[in-house]
Amino acid sequence: MPRNRKTRFGASITRRDFVNGMAAGAGAALAAGALAAPGGSAPDPLALSLGADWYGYGGVGPYRHSHGNSPEVVEAAHRVRDRRIPAGFDQLDPAEEFDLVIVGGGMAGLGAAFEFSRTRRSGQTCLVMDNHPMIGGEAKENEFLVNGQRLIAPQGANGFFVPEAAADLSEARGDPYYYAALGIPREFAYPRWPEQMKPLKFCRDNYGYLVAGLQRNTSVGHFFGAAGDGSGAWAVDMFEQRLAGAPLPEASRRALLDWFNSGAARRFDSPEQARRALDTMSYEQFLRNELALGEEGIRYADLFLASACGLGSDCVSAYAAWQLPMPGLFGPIPPDARRVSFPGGNSGFVRHFLKRLIPDAIEGGTNFEDLITRPIRSEALDRPGQPVRMRTRATALRVSHDGPAEKAGSVLVIYERNGKYRAVRARAVVMATGSWMNPHVVDDMPPSYREACAKFLHAPFLVANVALTNWRFLYELGITAAIWDREEGGFGFTCNIRNPMHVGGYRPPLDPGQPTVLSFYTPFHSPGLDPAAQVALGRAELLGVSYPQYEARIVRQMTRLFARSGFDPAVDVAGLILNRWGHAYSVPYPGFYGGANGSAPRDTLRKNYGRIAFAHSELDGLQHYGPAADEGRRACQQLANAL
Ligand SMILES: Cc1cc2nc3c(=O)[nH]c(=O)nc-3n(C[C@H](O)[C@H](O)[C@H](O)COP(=O)(O)OP(=O)(O)OC[C@H]3O[C@@H](n4cnc5c(N)ncnc54)[C@H](O)[C@@H]3O)c2cc1C
Repeated sequence: MPRNRKTRFGASITRRDFVNGMAAGAGAALAAGALAAPGGSAPDPLALSLGADWYGYGGVGPYRHSHGNSPEVVEAAHRVRDRRIPAGFDQLDPAEEFDLVIVGGGMAGLGAAFEFSRTRRSGQTCLVMDNHPMIGGEAKENEFLVNGQRLIAPQGANGFFVPEAAADLSEARGDPYYYAALGIPREFAYPRWPEQMKPLKFCRDNYGYLVAGLQRNTSVGHFFGAAGDGSGAWAVDMFEQRLAGAPLPEASRRALLDWFNSGAARRFDSPEQARRALDTMSYEQFLRNELALGEEGIRYADLFLASACGLGSDCVSAYAAWQLPMPGLFGPIPPDARRVSFPGGNSGFVRHFLKRLIPDAIEGGTNFEDLITRPIRSEALDRPGQPVRMRTRATALRVSHDGPAEKAGSVLVIYERNGKYRAVRARAVVMATGSWMNPHVVDDMPPSYREACAKFLHAPFLVANVALTNWRFLYELGITAAIWDREEGGFGFTCNIRNPMHVGGYRPPLDPGQPTVLSFYTPFHSPGLDPAAQVALGRAELLGVSYPQYEARIVRQMTRLFARSGFDPAVDVAGLILNRWGHAYSVPYPGFYGGANGSAPRDTLRKNYGRIAFAHSELDGLQHYGPAADEGRRACQQLANAL
């Protein structure tokens, strides 16, 4: 596809911006032809190196060099996996000593650091190291400047329900605990949609429009395209209209409505009872075998399940679907449940943690506006003398006890930073990283832990944020979110604009003639294939498609959907940021929670051995900020005697 920079993104983005953050001297771009055909085995993307045009434009502000997995992170992780590290790299004397080292600066690592700082004795110190240029893991933000308007959008984790206030902080866990402990506000400001305009409803995050019960809070358009001929029809708010405008055969219409409206078909006295009954089957098996529901509902459920868990109904445990909750297992979520999203999504939580742990890590004061909208000061993160330090661009390569785990008095951590190997010694280590990484790094990990790690399955995910100069083409259709069937060569399944939270002086407009961000949350699922093959194929695509190739696909998809309502890429698109997450989600497959007998790999990993404990949101099965931070808190508490 010929590339025309001017028509894609306008003149304000220069070639230099466009290739920011790329790995200098990286190998040739990967051809799209490197991808396996569906049903075939995926090529090993790691045998390839990422091309100079892989990472692409990163926006403005401090996160412009850290959007999704950076090429350096991908390549270093694969060197670790393949043991492509020079012999003798670990023959180093530690230059520094800490009481606690936390590997992984996502929500779990920050939860561990928060617990450390709350309970530490005078003089105790902690180092958080993360391989990305910015702290936050999957909870980071993108920033654009479009016609003078600042726009902030999530790179991944984005939404949450405002939790009940915690009555007793000492007993609280998960979301209510962090909400209270970090002092997060409960009321937020949003722009009002003017009454003189066509009535429109807006999602406040990037998920709600996919969820039965919440969907009615958004003007959702379903696009029904006739394969290949460029035509198609929109059905707006189709579930509210009982599919009246949807061009579907009667049988499909009935199957879809039956699924969407099926409330709690099974009742359980406790989560334990639900787990034993439901974790033995996939959500698809539950719908087919227990509710005799047809294909249409199952495939529709894939949209949300794959967006929230990485794979669809055929791979996700019915118990996970019960927890989410999904139709057939629960009544719809009350539409007044307050689901919101900070401007940068869950980076808002990261920012609250940072301010608590290192008070000058963010410019300004402790008020919500400064925390959410002011720049992170990377120079403040890693200064000698601080009780908690944070080191970015640092990949842990080898972690092992100094001697037998049960007797050792310390742990040695070897890491790579800016091409140099370094060592630190710690009294204890929290591995706030996932099971795709830990067995390659934690050298003296017992065999039972290795076996447990091998049982996790991680799915990739792509968040593409498209900055728009205006969104008249959506207004024209009367929608703020779109859902479509993917066609050969197409891109994505869904996209939406949010009603943007206003925070102090950060006040993005809610006006079709003004800029906004259109977010495509894009899973890689291939229903029917073996789950391992699905994630391998997905990762091969995620790593194998260059930025210009994705750019072309996204513009083509938008043209297919919106050209007839006036979309013109040359005028309407101001910028595109790709956030690629290679191991975005741990898939909660049937049996993940222990199935009928109750024994699960995560139980092994939730126990420390010696001075090393594991914490990552993967252990919860449904990745979410509160439980993620709780895993870190638990890991830190387990090591209290070692500190
Ligand atoms: C697209 C997407 C949407 C999501 N939406 C939501 C949402 O709406 N709400 C919600 O609550 N949650 C959401 N989540 C889930 C989110 O993943 C969790 O809430 C949480 O942020 C994960 O934190 P974590 O610390 O467990 O993992 P991560 O965020 O994965 O952090 C782990 C960190 O460790 C680093 N690391 C790994 N190996 C090494 C090494 N060897 N050396 C140094 N560093 C290393 C990783 O690169 C990463 O930075 C979403 C996730 C994705 C991918």
